[in-house]
Amino acid sequence: MPIDATQPYDDQNIFAKILRGEIPATRLYEDAYAIAFPDIAPQAPTHILVIPKGAYVSWDDLSARGSDAEIAGFVRAVGKVARDAGLVAPGYRLLANTGLDSHQEVPHLHVHIFAGRPLGPLLA
Ligand code: 5GP
Repeated sequence: MPIDATQPYDDQNIFAKILRGEIPATRLYEDAYAIAFPDIAPQAPTHILVIPKGAYVSWDDLSARGSDAEIAGFVRAVGKVARDAGLVAPGYRLLANTGLDSHQEVPHLHVHIFAGRPLGPLLA
């Protein structure tokens, strides 16, 4: 079910549980601001999720309430995960669903990294 991105942060969401180590996920990357792990239902040969450590519902929430250090740290982490995975030369796509029409399902900000095949035109 898609979520309303204007809702308050719910610390029982599945990615909050992954952050706290209550649900297993393979941590591909971790720093002070973010962790990355594979999507459980990959939609491309490479499908990685990067999430901030802070309690933010969506891209909107982080951009509005996050500190400059959190925002910069998260953006740098997304770039580093893709770079370290060797995705810059072949190319990759970032996606951050926000709210109902985007079909955001997990109410903790996550950026999808898709790669590993030609992805075609956006929204195709
Ligand atoms: P959204 O639609 O919110 O942008 O994407 C949520 C993503 O989270 C989906 O691609 C879904 O497969 C992934 N996901 C949902 N639950 C889990 C989980 O428990 N572990 C992992 N690794 N991914 C999950």
